[in-house]
Parts: sequence; structure tokens; C-alpha cells
Amino acid sequence: MPVRPGANRELGAKPDLAPPRDGPRDECGVFGIYAPGHEVSRLSYFALYALQHRGQESAGIAAADRGGHIITRRELGLVSQVFTENDLRTLAGELAIGHVRYSTTGSNAWENSQPVQRSEGMGGTRRELALAHNGNLINAVELHDELAASGVTFSSTSDSEIIAAMIASHPAVDVEEAIADVLPRLRGAFSIVAMTRDRVLAFRDPQGLRPLSIGVLDASGSDEGVHYCVASESCALDIIGARYVRDVEPGELVTLGPEGLQSRQVVTGARRAFCVFEYIYFARPDSRMNGRVLQVARARMGEILWREAPVNADLVIAVPDSGNAAARGLARAAGLPQDDGFVKNRYVARTFIQPGQELRRHGLRLKFNPLPEVIAGKRLVVVDDSIVRGNTTRQIVQMLRDAGAAEVHMRISAPPIKHPCHYGIDMSTREEMIAHERSVAEVAAELGCDSLHYLSLQGVYEAIGDGADAGAGVAGGPQSHCDACFSGSYPLDGTGEANGKYALEDGSPELPLVRA
Ligand code: SF4
Repeated sequence: MPVRPGANRELGAKPDLAPPRDGPRDECGVFGIYAPGHEVSRLSYFALYALQHRGQESAGIAAADRGGHIITRRELGLVSQVFTENDLRTLAGELAIGHVRYSTTGSNAWENSQPVQRSEGMGGTRRELALAHNGNLINAVELHDELAASGVTFSSTSDSEIIAAMIASHPAVDVEEAIADVLPRLRGAFSIVAMTRDRVLAFRDPQGLRPLSIGVLDASGSDEGVHYCVASESCALDIIGARYVRDVEPGELVTLGPEGLQSRQVVTGARRAFCVFEYIYFARPDSRMNGRVLQVARARMGEILWREAPVNADLVIAVPDSGNAAARGLARAAGLPQDDGFVKNRYVARTFIQPGQELRRHGLRLKFNPLPEVIAGKRLVVVDDSIVRGNTTRQIVQMLRDAGAAEVHMRISAPPIKHPCHYGIDMSTREEMIAHERSVAEVAAELGCDSLHYLSLQGVYEAIGDGADAGAGVAGGPQSHCDACFSGSYPLDGTGEANGKYALEDGSPELPLVRA
């Protein structure tokens, strides 16, 4: 399905002041906690704060007292903009879930912010559910059709509400039974945290495409025993003082409730396909995934990059912050000095103020300002983690030349991106990708650099380890990871026909969505 350019603008998205980078857009971050005696909404707030890099378009928290009603607060904006002290007091309770979002399915309207909340049934059989989703279903339209035919109505265009509706309207008495029946019908990527009025539920797609970790809270602050939480990344556990326990296994359903942590393996034996791009770029460098601290893995990528493509140079600089770790590793391996070639304005994010024609000409300078005193006359190795369309990299090369660089050698700690992601990452269309149907030399000429080298896929797998130090089942490199955006080899059959980001909106004549 075609992506409609500018669709998010029409629906009220916050425009970018400057296109800060044209790399892949992060997907979403999720969090869930069951902890009577703790301030669950405040803990959720800070966990989401740590996950902000995974989505900057909306944030939300749902909370409930055991047996009470679920209250949700969600809004467009950053975590720090969405919640006030008063909101957190209102969101009192014993359990909570939270979400930060970058729109992967459905555009950035308020209706598509999360957690989504659904109430189905009447009287004693009424099921109230809030749900937060990271990932993207590839059979969303099919499931939507099925539900719509049975009379289910929707208030958003996101695939997450489809999942919430399937679970909330399921006839099984136990929500765990409902999820166990629904999970195998979902195809694509999903790391989900949901809550009813008395428990938090977390489950992951059978391939384990997107991450989801379990943490345990320090029991010393509570007289009600050990309490658990789940988060997209371990950095969210660190910030609230929780200890990482393990990952939610692919195909596993975990319940956090009065009985502590309970687990049920819903689907077994599926081919694993953890997203290799999480190691390269998406996740925060201080997060641990499958037993690895990403800062270390990324530095190793830089070392291998140098081994694969050394060059006569004077200085290594990173494109901040995405290239920092790999640049350090590369400089170490090369025995070259490393310095800051740019100063980054860390406060350029989303704003309603547009730069206008005059400022637009300065483009990227709003975000990166080069330091001629460091750069001038030097043969530079410039390290970044990925190139998608190449617009940012082209401008960076030009800025460095304008600042007096003698030579600019680009080194990228990922292979060329040639194929779209259908599992929750927005990378634009194949035709927009600079490496699509171009050789590396042709891309280098497009970017205007003196040389260009991408880390090989083999180098990526070498950097993330052979699995010897990793959790069960993640060994085996390509056999247990997804690398489809580089290789074109999609781990799920039928991915090629997957629905685009705006599938549910583009199809509006056939899919008459009811807006609340
Ligand atoms: Fe990750 Fe790329 Fe696979 Fe998408 S296609 S899940 S970004 S490795």
C-alpha cells in the first residue's frame, strides 16, 4: 500500500523544524508494572522518559486500582510535555502501562496515540482492557475486515486497536485464555503490554522481532513483596531501580498480578527473528539485548568497519549521536585521534514553528554546527550508523567541505538499506532509498564523499557475537535474526504483500472506520 506523503500533517502532526536525520524512524516503546504500594504512574512516567528515543509523537499512561476502573491519559507530544504532576496523581493505582509512539501504522492523530482502551460486554462479563503495542501487524487489514463484519467499531486507524478489540471482545472468561487464542492469529511484529483492572499482561510475537524485558523492583520500598515490570528496553528498568531478570520469550505470555509473575508459552518452535537493527541503531546504547550491552556491540562494529575498509586519514569524527559508539571503536582500531567535528543542538526536535525560506537554506545547521578549527585541512573518517535516503549525509559531507576538510571518507556501521521494513520501522519506500539499485561507488558519488564503505552483514553478526554469551535460542546469527532491510530476506511468509503504514486509511472506501 502506498504511504501518503504528508498524511500526518493533515491529521495534525507536529511538523519537524528541520529534518534532523533521514535515518529510519524508531517505532514505539512500552512499559507495564504491577506494584501495589508503589507510585505506579510515576514509575511509568520515568520509564517512558527513558524510552523516549523510541517514539516522540505521543505518550500515554493507563492505570487502575485493583478492581477499579482503568483511567488513561494520552496526548501528542513528548513525555515531559504530556504529563503534569496532577495527571500522575489522578493516575493513582496498583498497576499501570505506558507507551511512547512514533506512528508506524496509522498516522499521527490523537486517536492513534496509546494506550488504547476498550470495554466490551455487559454486567459481569464486561471486560475492560488497555493495551500498548510496539511493532506492526502484516495482516491488520484482514483482521480489521473480520472484526468489522462482526459489528466491531473502531475509534482509530492503528493496528493496536484491532488487537485490543480482539482480546476485549473474546468470549473466554480468563483474559489469558483470550490472549492465548488471539496471539497465534496475529502476524507480524508485536511486543505488547496490556492491563485489565487487576493484572498486567505482556506478550511477544513468536519470532521475537521487537524486544521486551522483564524487571523486578527492589522490594525494600514496599511491604507487599516482590513486584515485576516489563519494558521495551533495560534502560527503562535501570531508571526506576528495577533489576533486569530476563526477556519475555518469543511466543510467551507473562502475567504480572497478585500471584507474582506467571508464564505461559503460547507458541513454540517458530523461527526466531530478532531485529538486527535494534543492535545497530534503535535501542539506547546503555540497553542490554540478548545479553549484550549495545554500546560495546556498536564500538565493535566500528572496529570491524576499520578492518574491512582502512584509509589514510588524520582524524575520526562521528555524526553525533548516532555514530558515536562506532566512531570510538573505529578510532581505537585505527590508532587515529578522535574529536568532535560537530556540535549538536540537542533541543531541536518537534516544534510548531517552521523555519521559513530564509532559515531553511541553512538546513541541517539547525541541528549540527561544524567546527572548522577541528576539521580544516584534515583527512576525515566520518562515522554514522546508517544511510536511508542520503539527504542528511549529503548535507553533512558538504558542511565538512565548506568547513575546510581536505578529504571526507564516510564509514557506515550498517550494510546498505535497500528494502522496506514491514515490522514496525519507518524507512520510507524502496525507491527513496539511496542504495536502491545503486552500487556503493554510485552512492559515494551521490553523497559527494571521497570514499564510502558500509559494514558487511557478516561484520554486523560478528560484532553482536556468536551467541556464546547470549540468552537461549538467540545464537546462530542470521538464523535467529531479521536483517530483511539489508538482505531482502523477510522472515515471515507473505511479508511482501504487507500493508503499508496508512493501509487502514488509504482503504477507507472499503474499510469505513468509525471515528469516536
Ligand atoms: Fe529490523 Fe530491518 Fe527486520 Fe525491520 S526489516 S525488523 S528494521 S532488521
